[in-house]
This record gives sequence, structure tokens and C-alpha cells, in this order.
Amino acid sequence: MAQHYRIATLPGDGIGPEIMAIAVEVLQVIGQQLDLSFEFKSALIGGAAIDAMGEPLPADTLELCRNSEAVLLAAIGGPQWDNLPAHLRPEQGLLGLRAGLDLFANLRPAKIFPQLIDASSLKRDVVEGVDIMVVRELTGGIYFGQPKGIFETELGKKRGVNTMAYTEVEIERVGRVAFEAARQRRGKLCSVDKANVLEVSQLWRDQITQLAQDYPDVELSHLYVDNAAMQLLRWPKQFDTIVTGNLFGDILSDAAAMLTGSIGMLPSASLGPEGTVGVFEPVHGSAPDIAGADKANPLAQVLSAAMMLRYGLNQPEAAERIEQAVQVVLDRGDRTADIMSPGMNLLGCRAMGEALIQALTETA
Ligand code: NAD
Repeated sequence: MAQHYRIATLPGDGIGPEIMAIAVEVLQVIGQQLDLSFEFKSALIGGAAIDAMGEPLPADTLELCRNSEAVLLAAIGGPQWDNLPAHLRPEQGLLGLRAGLDLFANLRPAKIFPQLIDASSLKRDVVEGVDIMVVRELTGGIYFGQPKGIFETELGKKRGVNTMAYTEVEIERVGRVAFEAARQRRGKLCSVDKANVLEVSQLWRDQITQLAQDYPDVELSHLYVDNAAMQLLRWPKQFDTIVTGNLFGDILSDAAAMLTGSIGMLPSASLGPEGTVGVFEPVHGSAPDIAGADKANPLAQVLSAAMMLRYGLNQPEAAERIEQAVQVVLDRGDRTADIMSPGMNLLGCRAMGEALIQALTETA
């Protein structure tokens, strides 16, 4: 009997509905090929939810996500919601989803597609073969630590405060996700901290080092964050999997992403405790400048669906088939406008989806 999965789809705003439609079609085709049955239920988030229900994350949306095996999200936001009060902005939908599902680990692969090397701002020999996974802690650290705020000092001057704090439990749980990810990849994990200056980082390093005893097959190294930033630009191929805290991960995952040169190609996964629901989404935003124009690149969304299959549903073969189909269309020279180069075939979002499905069908 076919394995059955309930998937919550959250198309969100801007190009979200266009790219989500492609990802759902791709999943339906892969489902037929591998005897997997997907039940998709769509819900509102972000600006679309504000317009329809007056809030960025309606309770029904969170409930649907909690009752699904995985959440496939597109993107939220747009200029029409930028001037709303902070608690009603579309981003609150994302933050609420992360908090509501306890998504403490964010996995962001930065993999260079050989066909798109010239889109990178770095030299070919530096970026060729780059395949990095950044695991970022997502619900702790300086973004959430207390005390935080802008306070009056005794001298009547203001003082801004944030607190970087991690508990052993928080470090251990994201550390385990990273060791497991490294295990599924090339078996190398680099932990990034600032242990020469920050006590919170000393605890981070001690805890990760201790955890390594449970993963003798993974080779662990440590780097200070300033050196890690330099090494990412100098020789990114030295990295396999990186694990780091919220602030350092925010910055390093964007830097790693830019090595690949194309934001329309980058997926991500946010995971919670084992056995709970993960959220899979492209790194890019809702691209309001091209929304509704059939110009969006659907590949980051489709690759997010592949991550969902691999990390959320434990269906690595299905994930691999999708990733291979992406390689096939790129090999054929099919490109959306954001990754276009001379001599290639310019396709819109829907045509790129059709090309993918054709590739999937041919390689089955
Ligand atoms: P963006 O990622 O939406 O767009 C940046 C540029 O990249 C634009 O020129 C856009 O056209 C292009 N682009 C992005 N994705 C593309 C795709 N799939 N295919 C082709 N081109 C693509 O970032 P932005 O312009 O800074 O933000 C737009 C809105 O998205 C804002 O409201 C922002 O808050 C929101 N946003 C949401 C998320 C999210 O949902 N996770 C992330 C970032 C930004």
C-alpha cells in the first residue's frame, strides 16, 4: 500500500502561489513513480492571511501544520504590508510558525550547480564543487536572550542591550541535528563560535566537543567566526557541514549562499525535536517585483520539496530523483530569467515546471 503523507502547503505572498503550484505537481509525479501518496492542504500565512483574516498566522494555519507530516512554505511579505504595526507584519507569521513548531535547527545547503558557476562572484576554481550545509540554531542565542531592550541609564542616556545565552540543552539538540546531517553527507563537521572572547561560546565548544564522542564517524573541527567568514571566501571547498549559533549562522548562511550566485536555487529546512513537523522553504523572499508575471524561478521551491522528502519524510530516493531532474533541465540549457546566460533557453515559471516534469518522467 502507498505510504501516505499529509502535507500542509503555505503559498504565502508574491510569487509564492506560482512556485508552490510547480512543487506540488512535481511531488504528485514523484508520488506516482515511487508509490507515495501526498494529501495537500493549503492554508494562509503572511500578507494573504492578514488580508483575509486580519492576522499573519491564523490559529487554523498553525493547527493544520501541527497535524501534518511536513510543511512546505513558499514566501511571505510585500510592500503593501510594510507599514502595518510590527505585530501585524507578515514576518510575524514566520516567527510564529517557528515558535509554534519549536523549529530550533535551520539547515541551509549552499551547493554550486556546475551549469551556473559563472553566476558566482568568485573565481571558478574557488567555487567549483562547493557543497556546504550550514546548520544554524534558530530559536535561542542573542535574538531571544534576556534581558533585551533599550534602557535609560542613570545619566539619562539610553543603553541598548541584547543577551547572548545558550543552555547545554539548546546546544546539544542542534548539535545532534548537525552531527546527523554530517553523517548523511561527507562526515565532516565544523563548529563555529567565538570561544576566545565569549563565555557562551566556550560552553558551545565544550558541549559540541563532548557530543562528538557519540559520533566517532564524524570528523569534528572548530573555527572562530571571524576566521570562518574568511575561510568561506578563501577556500569554501574545505567545508562540508557547519554548525553554529543563531547570529553567526544568520550571517554565515547568507555568505555561503552567495557563493552559489543564484538566490532562486536555494532551499532550506527548519527542524524541531525528532518526530515533529519540519518546515521546508526557499531562502528567497516573495519577489513582489515579478509576482504574477510567470517569471519566477521555481527551482528553490522544488529543491525545498526535495529537502522535505529527505529530512522530513525520510524518502531519500524521491529527493534524489527531484535533484537529478533539476540537473537535467539545467544541462539542457533551460533557464528562468534570474539564472539566464547567453545561448540558453529562457523559460517562464510554468514552462520550467513542465520541463522538470518531463525530465522526471524521462529519467524514471
Ligand atoms: P526577495 O528574495 O523577494 O527578492 C530579491 C530579488 O531576487 C528580487 O529582484 C527578486 O525578483 C529576485 N528573486 C527572488 N526569488 C526569486 C525567484 N524564485 N525567481 C526569480 N527571481 C527571484 O527579497 P526582497 O526583495 O528583499 O523581499 C521581498 C519581500 O519578501 C519582502 O516583503 C521581504 O520581507 C520578504 N522576504 C520574505 C522571506 C521569506 O518568506 N522567508 C525572505 C526574505 C524576504
